[in-house]
Order: sequence, then structure tokens, then C-alpha cells
Amino acid sequence: MLLNVYSRYNVIFDKGEGSYIFDIEGNKYIDFVSGISVNCLGHASPVIINALTEQSKKLIHISNLYYSEPQLELAKKLTENSAMEKVFFTNSGTEAIELAVKIAHKYGNNLSYDENGNKIIDKTEIIYMKNSFHGRSTGALAITGQPKYQKPFEPLISNVTQCNFNDVKDLKAKVSEKTAAIILEPIQGESGLESATPEFMQAIKELSEKYNALVIFDEIQCGMGRTGKLFAYENFEIIPDIVTVAKSLGGGVPIGATLTKGKANDVLKPGDHGSTYGGNPLVCAVANAVLHELIDNKLVEKDVVEKGQYSLKKLEELKGKYNFIDEIRGKGLLLGIKFDESKVLAKDVVLKALENGLLLVGAGNNVVRFFPPFNVKTEEIDEAVSILSKVLETF
Ligand SMILES: *Cc1c(COP(=O)(O)O)cnc(C)c1O
Repeated sequence: MLLNVYSRYNVIFDKGEGSYIFDIEGNKYIDFVSGISVNCLGHASPVIINALTEQSKKLIHISNLYYSEPQLELAKKLTENSAMEKVFFTNSGTEAIELAVKIAHKYGNNLSYDENGNKIIDKTEIIYMKNSFHGRSTGALAITGQPKYQKPFEPLISNVTQCNFNDVKDLKAKVSEKTAAIILEPIQGESGLESATPEFMQAIKELSEKYNALVIFDEIQCGMGRTGKLFAYENFEIIPDIVTVAKSLGGGVPIGATLTKGKANDVLKPGDHGSTYGGNPLVCAVANAVLHELIDNKLVEKDVVEKGQYSLKKLEELKGKYNFIDEIRGKGLLLGIKFDESKVLAKDVVLKALENGLLLVGAGNNVVRFFPPFNVKTEEIDEAVSILSKVLETF
């Protein structure tokens, strides 16, 4: 019945509660996938249930022809708690990226002509990183530096240039007057939780200023608290012109956002972009409730930081115990375990963990992601690590 694009695990899930999830046969699992960095408040969160219930009694959808209070409140929360100034709401991460690409193209086109309308340059190039992941649409795929996702679907959008991640020399060779934007994940999610280095971020800052190019941060996976800061850029000495977020923003309801500041704010004009569902009252009400937990109830500042440190300590202990663990990576609760490829495959660890009641998800470069919900309990981390240790024992 389902289009064959996922090799799914052989389990049908029925319900969840907090960090736990149950299949239709009643088997219990600890869920440290969190719907791939989405369910930041865990399953069946009373906060989300309440927001969904209350808002659904008022308005679910009105289109973007009108204002709604939940959408205005969410835009206010996001801009007041960041360096960003304007917001557009989408239904997914990919759509947030598509908008960022459109802004970059129009920004570049605006600068490509002189006052008489003569073309002086083609400033529409987008620089993207090797091993990046930005989504599956033909726009987002074009800047996703993984040939296995791109090749079968060509032609994709053109005038894109790949740069080696964290390679300052390569970046310097590629960014020029023709660059409209540089896009990167501050911490690469799908490809194995490699973080941008301070030197690389510094080079991005300098080159984008020198050539008047936009900087776009894709924080769809690493943003909204998972690193222990609300925005991942707060971990670096740079403020991007555009930030895309999604995943944890809705705690499970489909919502994304493209945030802009400064010269990216007014590139688009009425009629340039739109979305029927984007930012409808229901999803915004849920996101407001999630952000209230994350910001006002200090889930990010306190829980993610503390549970992140605790998890890191426990995973480092595992690394001490098993010599086929190369490295524990990441920040906050955006953690990854990198295995020595010649000895253990990440996908085998994920499968065996599932069989033993622990959900984990792999990433590129032989990494297993460890993504608990933000309100995970210390005992649950202990339980997960103990299952994982039992699993690793078998290799
Ligand atoms: C998940 C993800 C996307 C795509 O988001 P969807 O909601 O699946 O469209 C884009 N970029 C990054 C970094 C992601 O992790």
C-alpha cells in the first residue's frame, strides 16, 4: 500500500508515554529517536494534548489571508528569543529550505543588475556543504551534498557549488562576487553529527561580509533546543541572515519556519511566496506551548544541558568499555556514537537495540544518534545506556 521508499523496521507502534513507546503487541521500548529529533516533549505530553484540544475547539485553519493570534504569538516568541526579525511558517523542514533558497535567488537577482536594468553579474550561486542534508525537494536536494540522494533525480536547480565542510581553503576558493548565499547545518545531522569548527564559521562570516552573500543556517535538526541553546547558532560566534527550523519546534505537529534578519527581511514582496496550511492556528498553538516549556520553563537551559552532560558522561563510559567506539559527538542532547567501521556497523547496533527495547537511529559515517526527549529522566538514560551496553557486548 505504501510507496516503497523506506526500508521500515518490522514493528507497528500503537501508543507512547513520555520516553516510552508501545507496539501493538504491548511490547515496551525506550524511544531515543524522538521521531528523528521531533518529539522534544516525549509522547502524549499533557502540554501538547492540552494545546491541541483547546485550540481545536476554537480554530484549526483559516489560511494566510488573515491573522490568527497563535501565529502572531509564535512569531513574537521566535523573534524575541533570537537575533532574527521576521518569520514565515511552513509545514515541514524542506519547505523552510525552499523558501530560504528563493530568498537567496531573489536577493542575488536584485544585485545582478545595474540601475539601468543591465545585467552586470549573475549573483545567484548557492554554496553548500559536502555531506549536508537539507531535504528531498528538487531545490533542497540540489544543495544536499550526498550524490546517492541527488543523482537519480537530476535535473535539480542549477548554479550550486559544493564546498568541503570545515575546509577553510576550499571555502575561500569558492565564495566570490557571484555567491548569493552560503548554506550549512551548524552541526550536520543526517551525515553523522559533525560540527562546524570555529575557524570555518569565522571564514564564513568574513567571506559573506566581503562578498555581500547571505548566510543560511539549517537548524531543522540541531535547532530548537537540542544543543542546549534554543538556536544552534548561539553555540558559534556568528549570526546568520536566515535560519530554518522545524522538527522540535512543533513537538510532533508538522511545522517549520524560515526566519530572517537584516538584508534578508524585505527581499520578498506580497505575492512572492505562500502556503495554504503554513502556520495555521492549530500547529502554532502547539508550537507556542512547546516553546513555553523550552524557554519559560527552562527545559533547554536546564534539562537539555544537564541531561546532555549526563548522557555524554554515560556514553563516554561506554566508549571506555568498547574499543570499537571511535568517538562520542555532538552537543546537549544532539549526541552521536561513532563506531569503527571495520568492526561494528551502526545499522546492526540500531537493529539489535530495537530487538532489545531501545529505539535509536543511525546517521551517515557509521554513527548512531542518541536523541532522547528533552524531559527525559536520568533513570531512563541509565536504562537506555544499559540496554545499549548489553547490545554492544554481543559484537
Ligand atoms: C529533517 C531535515 C530536513 C528536512 O525536513 P523535513 O521536515 O523532513 O522536510 C532538512 N534539513 C535538516 C538538517 C534536517 O534534519
